[in-house]
Amino acid sequence: METVIVGLFVALFAVEFIAEFGLNELNLDYVRRRSAGNKIPDFFQGKLSPEEYDQSIQYTLAKGRFQRWEELYGRVVTLVILFGALPLLDRFSGNLADWYLPFAYGRGLIFCFAVALLLCIASLPTEFYSTFKLEARFGFNKTTWQLYLADKVKGLILGIVIGLPFLFVVLWLMDATGSYWWIWTFFFVVGFQLLMVIAYPMLIAPLFNKFEPLPEGELRSRILQLAEQVGFKTNGIFSMDGSKRSAHSNAYFTGIGKAKRIVLFDTLIAQMTTEQGLAVLAHEMGHFKLKHIRRMLVVQTLFLFFGLYILSLLMDYQPFFAAFGLDPSNYAALVLFSLLSGPFTFYLGPLINWLSRKHEYEADQFAVKTLHNPTPMEEALVNLTVKNLTNLTPHPWYSAYHYSHPTPTERIHAIRTVPV
Ligand SMILES: [Zn+2]
Repeated sequence: METVIVGLFVALFAVEFIAEFGLNELNLDYVRRRSAGNKIPDFFQGKLSPEEYDQSIQYTLAKGRFQRWEELYGRVVTLVILFGALPLLDRFSGNLADWYLPFAYGRGLIFCFAVALLLCIASLPTEFYSTFKLEARFGFNKTTWQLYLADKVKGLILGIVIGLPFLFVVLWLMDATGSYWWIWTFFFVVGFQLLMVIAYPMLIAPLFNKFEPLPEGELRSRILQLAEQVGFKTNGIFSMDGSKRSAHSNAYFTGIGKAKRIVLFDTLIAQMTTEQGLAVLAHEMGHFKLKHIRRMLVVQTLFLFFGLYILSLLMDYQPFFAAFGLDPSNYAALVLFSLLSGPFTFYLGPLINWLSRKHEYEADQFAVKTLHNPTPMEEALVNLTVKNLTNLTPHPWYSAYHYSHPTPTERIHAIRTVPV
């Protein structure tokens, strides 16, 4: 039975790899062919210079070529951990727990932490290359290695302070609440997630970035006016020092209830006109008005529920552990489940992205209707596209699979058809 389990996993793992790798190749080829002759796509004629267009192609190709290696490397890491490191780590955790954490779940905590740490260390080379070589080559990277290191240390501390107690409770619930442990765990995780949705923007994000209320001025007063018009009750409209790490620009909406806030990157504020900035804000308020965050949370919660249910079935199935050289235990089940789930949940990715793209269209539409004018939203999109060297011509399959936002062309097309 163990052989069947390993065989099934390896087969699905290979399918996922071929699909990911193939999609990237398709995209690279598509972009190369579309860009031949350096002819700017229709919607962007006159909006960006031939040099900027060429840069966006070079950036896309460089990222795609890098993705080949990243993909391959990531796969090897997963296989080495799954088929080589796990039993060793388990024994090592056992010994360490005997000496230093001789209480219930000590071994499980060390094991999970060790696997997470190993994954984190393994991702350093590709992350380093991406940040300090690739992004730097196109003038995007602003991170220094000191800042990079500080971020990692903070992440590690957060993992210990928040992650370990969380894991402790989960292990305890799995142990103490009988065969319906997965329902108890489900409620605990949902509660924890809700807490994090509120705590993250207020307590955790500020550890990495400075958030300041938008400075007094035309943009701020127009935004407050807009907020009142659409009934968006918050004083949480912030500017964030994104320029500390990268020249990429962005805006996002986060939190629920009183903790909700809109965050604009300082890079975005610097590069946009007031009208364009206002359009971006209207778009973000659209996400709030149309309850997109809440809907996404519900979808996530459903996945969690079914995920835990499946885990509860696997827990009682000894060959599931034996296939990977482990003795049955709650902590081993958690780690195995998270390492093995990729090739199975792979098919859900496009579904989530499809829902997210639907939300983006709706928020764009909301912005256009609120401002009674499609032009600022369109200009803001063009601006973002040009400044971020966004790929103007992704392969349709690639964008359908990977993109959480519709392509700029698709968005502009949709914006122009909104009745105002
Ligand atoms: Zn959006």
